[in-house]
Amino acid sequence: MDELLPRPRSIFAPPSTRVETPARKKIALPQLKLGWSLPNFLERRTKAGPAIFLALSLSASAAAVMGTLYAPAFQVAVDGAELGLIDSRQSVEDAVQRVEDRASNILGYEYTLTQSITYTPQMALKEDQTSVSGVETYLFDQIGEIMQTSVLTVNGQVLGATDDADGLSAMLESIKAPFINENTISAEFTSPVVVSRAYTPTADLREISSMQQVLISNSMEQVDYVVQAGDTFSAIAQSLGMTMDELRRLNPSININTLQIDQVLTVSQAVPFLSVRTVDNLTYEGPVPFETEQVPDENMYQGFTEVLVAGVDGSAIYNADVVYVNGTEQDRIINSTDILTEPVTQVVAVGTKPRPKTMATGVFQWPCRGSISSYFGSRYIFGSYSTHYGLDIAAAGGTPIYASDGGKVIWSGYRDNGFGNYVIIDHENGYQTYYAHCSSLCVSAGERVYQGQLIAKVGCTGRSTGNHCHFQVMKNGSAVNPLIYLP
Ligand SMILES: [Zn+2]
Repeated sequence: MDELLPRPRSIFAPPSTRVETPARKKIALPQLKLGWSLPNFLERRTKAGPAIFLALSLSASAAAVMGTLYAPAFQVAVDGAELGLIDSRQSVEDAVQRVEDRASNILGYEYTLTQSITYTPQMALKEDQTSVSGVETYLFDQIGEIMQTSVLTVNGQVLGATDDADGLSAMLESIKAPFINENTISAEFTSPVVVSRAYTPTADLREISSMQQVLISNSMEQVDYVVQAGDTFSAIAQSLGMTMDELRRLNPSININTLQIDQVLTVSQAVPFLSVRTVDNLTYEGPVPFETEQVPDENMYQGFTEVLVAGVDGSAIYNADVVYVNGTEQDRIINSTDILTEPVTQVVAVGTKPRPKTMATGVFQWPCRGSISSYFGSRYIFGSYSTHYGLDIAAAGGTPIYASDGGKVIWSGYRDNGFGNYVIIDHENGYQTYYAHCSSLCVSAGERVYQGQLIAKVGCTGRSTGNHCHFQVMKNGSAVNPLIYLP
């Protein structure tokens, strides 16, 4: 089965058609002493041409001429079917041996030919003698346990053999068919699919439908998945038909609560045994993206921008070759673009003015070293459930507290609201931060502070059960989880 033998082209016609072979191809007169039949010979030559007949009928020279044209040979017949004139009996016996060896090799057991082979001596024109390979092919074709089939091999793996070559190629085309439309210019399998003619054991024949079942089946394979905006761990798992546990097992080092765009996850996905790559040639109207021009503005702080002219996409007629695998776009090669409307370039002012040190960077840093003793959110404390609007960082009394980001101090003092001594910094970008229960305060309201500046020290003032810094982040007036913003 795995030995793929090309079919040698038979030079022998079947016995039934041999009857129709013109007589000039056959001189069979073994019974005469001379080893050839003069009357038949003469008749043949008569047909061939009167001039030759005349020359050869001059008996003195006839034998000499015959000796150079004719040689002894054997008419070889297999179970009565004449196969041709072979010059040596040994060469046929060698051919029988080769057929038996080859058949044994294909079938996997010792095979012996059962046909009866007869050899009839006769004189024959040398040009009418034939090679033994035709006998070999004929004998091989008589083996019922072996047949010539179309063998389907995918990616080097033999899937089966069939005697229905047309049915096999129709089945392969039917797998491509769903991905082909009127715009498709090419369709091919992504893995090597080879159909070869070979002699195989008859027992290895497979139904085409069962080969098709294998080709269209899916296998679960691990592939990369790039996190998109809006993805969550559970939504990704659900969309791929995986459980959260399966997804977690494939990604042990990923924190499922902090997925980031463009992060790569390993996922399990159904992949067809055989994939189809198609190329469609498409003509369509689409946008022409606008370009962006940047203009420096020395009156604006670094990190700030302002759109001066809004960009507008243009439109164009595109012609493109679009590459798909199993119907999913992989690549788009634009062949031509005919602009219908030109895009409008966007103009953006970019601030170049050096930022004051006390200006917010937009990125928070930890206000002090310590351990988290209470998280943001609902908690049970002081005998009842309540919402904790900040993050408690426990540290020894007197531990320095630094501004989490630059900004303006809008409160620094004591108030009887549970916070004790505390500082509020307005970062002037929508965010404010609180630092509460301090033992001492190092800044005053109205002062501008830079990120990392010492502003207070850890204490236990106000409603507090131990030394800690209550760190609270307000976004547009609402408390948010500080851990989301801290590195
Ligand atoms: Zn607290």
